[in-house]
Amino acid sequence: MNKIIHKECPLCSSPSIKKLFACKDHFASGESFDIFECSECGFTFTQGVPDESEIGRYYESPDYVSHSNTSKGVLNKLFHIVRNIMLRRKVSLVKRLTLLRHGKLLDYGAGTGYFASSMQKAGWNVTAIEKSKAAREQGKELFGIDMQPEEALAAQPDKKYNVVTLWHVMEHIQQLDNFWEQLHRILDDSGIAIVAVPNRASYDAEFYREHWAAYDTPRHLWHFTGSTLARLASKHRFILERRYPMPFDGFYISMLSERYKGRKLAPLRGVWNGFLGWIASFDKCGASSSIIYIFRKRR
Ligand SMILES: [Zn+2]
Repeated sequence: MNKIIHKECPLCSSPSIKKLFACKDHFASGESFDIFECSECGFTFTQGVPDESEIGRYYESPDYVSHSNTSKGVLNKLFHIVRNIMLRRKVSLVKRLTLLRHGKLLDYGAGTGYFASSMQKAGWNVTAIEKSKAAREQGKELFGIDMQPEEALAAQPDKKYNVVTLWHVMEHIQQLDNFWEQLHRILDDSGIAIVAVPNRASYDAEFYREHWAAYDTPRHLWHFTGSTLARLASKHRFILERRYPMPFDGFYISMLSERYKGRKLAPLRGVWNGFLGWIASFDKCGASSSIIYIFRKRR
């Protein structure tokens, strides 16, 4: 298998990287992957990830709720309820941050198009890009949206967009530096990038360590904190303007983490830990399980 081995930190290029622990892929393969950390900048990443030609099969599991519409099981039901609440929050966040009623938005990694469709209904001009052909077809069926494959990114005109959104996508992108350059190119000078990612420094990440479900190896390649993501953005002439906690993610991630640990009463334990993490995030956004970051181009 073609694996990607980083000899130096993908963020700051320091050779001083070390293994933290191994994480099992509970979702698809049952294989283990090492989590590495850079001693210079603290960036954390998955080592030995299968390359683009082979990663596809690690996305294949009957449990893949992000792309499914079945409502079997407690976790799935909860996921669907929370998704609707989050969709409303995301739409109002875009409007509030841009002060635009009708703008141009690119949703990158659009999945089956729920968010893209919500923005369209809110009167926005939306372009949706999604890597998975199956997800694009489902989006077409569900919402009539014509989503484009990932190659379409490079073909987008310069400075076209007021907003680019990446909802839990950045952690999957293999060519990080190239991606951020494209982001800079296609955003209007006053445009914003909205980037939501799991938070490796969260309450639940600290608590579950190698069992933390949001390591999600080998699908998640990078495990950001506020400071490492801001550093990456700064490398590409962006500044971190603000951030928002995502309170619901901790419940879902904690429930999954408990299940991965094979604990009895996993959903109950998960809800309790999700609750503790939620409380912790009131005091400190940096404790939140996932965080929404807002970036602007540096002037
Ligand atoms: Zn580093």
